[in-house]
Amino acid sequence: MRKFYISFFAILLSIIMSASVFATSLNDAKKELDEISKNIKETKNELNEVKEEQDNVRKQLDEIEKELEAKEKELATVEKKLAQTQAELDNVRQELAETEEELLKTQERLEQLKTELDEATRKAEEQEQLNAERLRAMYMNSTSSYLKLLLEAKSLNDLLNRIDMIIQMVTYDQQVFDKMVEYRNEVEEKTFACARQEEQITQIKNEIENKKVLLEQKEKEIKDTKNKIKKQKAAIEAAQNEKEALLNQLSEEEAKVRRELEQMEKESKELEKLIKELTKKSQSSNPPNKNGYVWPAPGYTHITSPFGYRVHPITKQYKMHKGIDISGSDISNKPAVAAADGTVILSQYYGTYGYCVIIDHGGGISTLYAHGWSTTVSAGQKVKRGDTVLKIGSTGSSTGPHLHFEVRKNGEPVNPLNYVSP
Ligand SMILES: [Zn+2]
Repeated sequence: MRKFYISFFAILLSIIMSASVFATSLNDAKKELDEISKNIKETKNELNEVKEEQDNVRKQLDEIEKELEAKEKELATVEKKLAQTQAELDNVRQELAETEEELLKTQERLEQLKTELDEATRKAEEQEQLNAERLRAMYMNSTSSYLKLLLEAKSLNDLLNRIDMIIQMVTYDQQVFDKMVEYRNEVEEKTFACARQEEQITQIKNEIENKKVLLEQKEKEIKDTKNKIKKQKAAIEAAQNEKEALLNQLSEEEAKVRRELEQMEKESKELEKLIKELTKKSQSSNPPNKNGYVWPAPGYTHITSPFGYRVHPITKQYKMHKGIDISGSDISNKPAVAAADGTVILSQYYGTYGYCVIIDHGGGISTLYAHGWSTTVSAGQKVKRGDTVLKIGSTGSSTGPHLHFEVRKNGEPVNPLNYVSP
């Protein structure tokens, strides 16, 4: 771009400096325009590449978003499952706590019942002992209080009364014993029932504990799955961030390329305008004569050697000079221009002519431009009147920079001044 500015200003500068360099500037401007057009084409290609890449990245991003959505759904499902399992687990834990409490109560009651049973057993045994002692005293032991009680009777009636009393006493003892045995049996039954209950509750508790272990295992598995999905999601998000960063970068690049393109297109338009102006100026500074020809060396009118016989400056021979030599102190590198519209039929180094261009104008007329440092057209190319065809130089048989210009009619050299005017 900097190079462009330099040449652009160089062109402007040359317009200001001298009218004779118009054509050179025009040529440079044309070359610059060609270069800029090439750059614009390349930049457009670059822009298309950037857009294509953007499209690719956008597609990738769409895919990533779909993946991410799927992962989020998966995660939601797993989280729901986890919540369910945790709720179940909470219930089971509650159930377990309640069962444990129930078990504890049952165990306490069992202990109490066992104590009660022991007491009842002990009391029944004591009563049995007492009954036995009393019966033994009544029937076997003569010194017992029962016999003494009977013997001390004062009358038959008194005896009968005393016997009746003893019978009542024994009967009472038996009743007390029977009641105690009954009570003990009752307690024993309750104890058994309680023990069975304890057993059942323990079984239930074990079942709940098993359930709890299974649920905890399930919870762990779900948590593992959840972590796995979270990691996958994080990886996808990282990829997403990366692609988004890339997309931003591409957008910046696109903006930059667009700015460059705009700038170039602006410069291209300015150049086109400049070229138009330069062409106009160049044409007005070197207008065609009545024959419709322009002077082939714009700005240089000094003819150092005319058409016709002369002593050749190098060979010193008296010989026909087939054209005119146009010269000037600063003519080196200045453009030689097509005298009229035509087709280039030769553009190359051509022996004593040096770098040389021949243009066929039709109707048997051709023009020749010789001794250039270089030619600026190629054979077969169509040229317009005033187009630069050669950079004036001193190649071939030449003593210094000048333009050797010939006009030929049906191949025979004719006086160029019959066609062009200085
Ligand atoms: Zn000559």
